[in-house]
Amino acid sequence: MNTYIKSLIEFLDSSVCNFCAVETVKNQLNANGYKELKFSDSWTLEKNGKYYVTKNDSAIFAFVLGDKSPAETGFKIIAAHSDSPCFRVKPNAEIKSEKGVVKLNTEVYGGPILYTWFDRPLSVAGRVILKGKDVLNPITRIIKVDRPILLIPHLAIHFNRSVNDGNHLSKQKDMLPVIGIFNEIAEKDNILLNTIANELSVSIDDILDFDLLVYDTQKAGLVGLHEEFISSGRLDDLSMVHASLMALLEGTDTNSTRIIAIFDNEETGSGTKQGAASPVLKNIMKRICRNYNDNSEEFMRALSKSFMISADNAHAFHPNYAEKYDPTNHPSIGGGPVIKINANCKYMTDAHSAAIFRSLCEASGSPYQYFVNHSDVAGGSTLGNILTSQIDIEGVDVGNALWAMHSVRETGSVEDHCNMIKVMKYFFSC
Ligand code: ZN
Repeated sequence: MNTYIKSLIEFLDSSVCNFCAVETVKNQLNANGYKELKFSDSWTLEKNGKYYVTKNDSAIFAFVLGDKSPAETGFKIIAAHSDSPCFRVKPNAEIKSEKGVVKLNTEVYGGPILYTWFDRPLSVAGRVILKGKDVLNPITRIIKVDRPILLIPHLAIHFNRSVNDGNHLSKQKDMLPVIGIFNEIAEKDNILLNTIANELSVSIDDILDFDLLVYDTQKAGLVGLHEEFISSGRLDDLSMVHASLMALLEGTDTNSTRIIAIFDNEETGSGTKQGAASPVLKNIMKRICRNYNDNSEEFMRALSKSFMISADNAHAFHPNYAEKYDPTNHPSIGGGPVIKINANCKYMTDAHSAAIFRSLCEASGSPYQYFVNHSDVAGGSTLGNILTSQIDIEGVDVGNALWAMHSVRETGSVEDHCNMIKVMKYFFSC
């Protein structure tokens, strides 16, 4: 198997939620000599130095400083997002049912295709907040329960003979996962907190709160007669996080400052302090400029010379639903990286930035294709146009074509992934 695809599969399997994805990126950056910065420290950065900083444990920004100041070269940025649609466990989650069966109360995060989550081996991951030395500084621990402890059983067809004719699902009634059978009354209390405490080897009394997300424990894998497809949860957008990370680690441009910006909460509109609508990236760029003794005038010059690739996945032409797609611009799975365009500016792409990305593809020897919505179908938005409300830089919205976006398992192309890495690596090398 191609080493990039092997590395992608490992990346997806360890990155089962936004917090775990940031942890995975962090581990790879540490292994490659990147130094961690804290927003609360003052930054003294070295030319050609490699650094990263995290926000909320769920967004991460890594960069390599150039020989020249950003005012001279501009920034090269690739943006992607760490989060995927799923379920979040509510506080006081245990709901006791007949004969000791216990289920968990959850709410939906983002826009998952609900019925793909039924009858699968599920588990939880996220972060747990523990008591610290003082009340304003609790301790954060990342958690990943590695075995399937949850399941959302579907109702038998015998109770709903018309289930295959369309079946409305209630997020509150139909989608709650079962965690087990508990015969002792005492055992039914604090089931989840006890599980977390055991997993982290801490006392239940030390647990203050948690962000726990439900994930599918089935591993990523290759499918197709020629193993041309990759089937996995969270390809949107962790495949682009992986591609941007590979490009950062292997890019060779020493003149300009290269950044990968992995935001959280794209699936819910980016409106958090760790999301693309916040000033987090702009503030990092300002601090980098200050390190070259660049003033705010020079920061403005840096912005005017910068270019961003906003990388989020696109919809591949589905052989069963031709009518859903634009007649002349429907990217095919395996057809190469996709440039996304929208007349109403849902994407940051324009002719100038599309031309630059196309040239990057041509120069790196990758095919490319275009995505435009069918004019009667409302499309989604992504990071690029939201980011431009904070920083007025030029950029392009791209991604690889997927089937079943927001299913618990999405399908992408092995070749597309390798090509996207090739293009991004070229961007960070030219
Ligand atoms: Zn996405």
